[in-house]
Amino acid sequence: MKTVLFGGTFDPVHNGHLAVAKAAADRLGLDRILFIPSGRPPHKDREPQASYEDRYRMVELACGADTRFEASRLEDPALIGDGRTYSIDTIEKVRSDLAPEDELYFLIGQDAFDELSIWHRLADVVDQVEFVVASRPHNISSVQREGLAAQARFHQLEGVDVPVSATAVRQLARQGIDLSDMVPEAVADYIRQHNLYQENEGSRPLGRPPFCL
Ligand code: ATP
Repeated sequence: MKTVLFGGTFDPVHNGHLAVAKAAADRLGLDRILFIPSGRPPHKDREPQASYEDRYRMVELACGADTRFEASRLEDPALIGDGRTYSIDTIEKVRSDLAPEDELYFLIGQDAFDELSIWHRLADVVDQVEFVVASRPHNISSVQREGLAAQARFHQLEGVDVPVSATAVRQLARQGIDLSDMVPEAVADYIRQHNLYQENEGSRPLGRPPFCL
């Protein structure tokens, strides 16, 4: 069995996430994609705007689109001490439930992959997973990977190019603009019904330096 982990803030999950997940599953013959909302936002300088429960619920709704998609609570802050999670902890939890012959992948956008060198326990991460790296529109990578980061095994996922970001979705939601081109209908309904993303962007600063994945 081939499993891929897809972590993110998912604030909210959007069509870009779903498109790269589907393309990865189709091209690499993956059986299961775990969408794992993070408890706290790694490398981001502010808290998520929506609560963990709202972000998880939207991921759950979005995962209805494909039988290979599964919402995961592996990084639920209520289950993890101070809510701080490192990818290697999640990888090891999933790996411990797999058979030795099962393959484990990690789906990631090019922007996040470019920051690999600062990941916690990178040697173990590189040892345990193969990355699937999704190109992002307007994000041509110029990062030269060195050291452990250069040892990462990866498959480049080109040509999906859905120009959507969660930042743009939040901005449009705040302006009351229809979101149906950017997120699944059920997610757009959820955002509307729960009045999400009405605060100003950046109004809840993290108040501490970013930490490693
Ligand atoms: P924000 O705009 O708030 O920074 P985001 O849209 O980048 O959010 P995240 O939840 O931070 O969404 O992303 C989770 C993962 O999905 C990251 O690895 C990110 O690089 C990747 N990703 C997000 N949007 C796209 C997209 N349109 N195409 C390819 N990868 C994407």
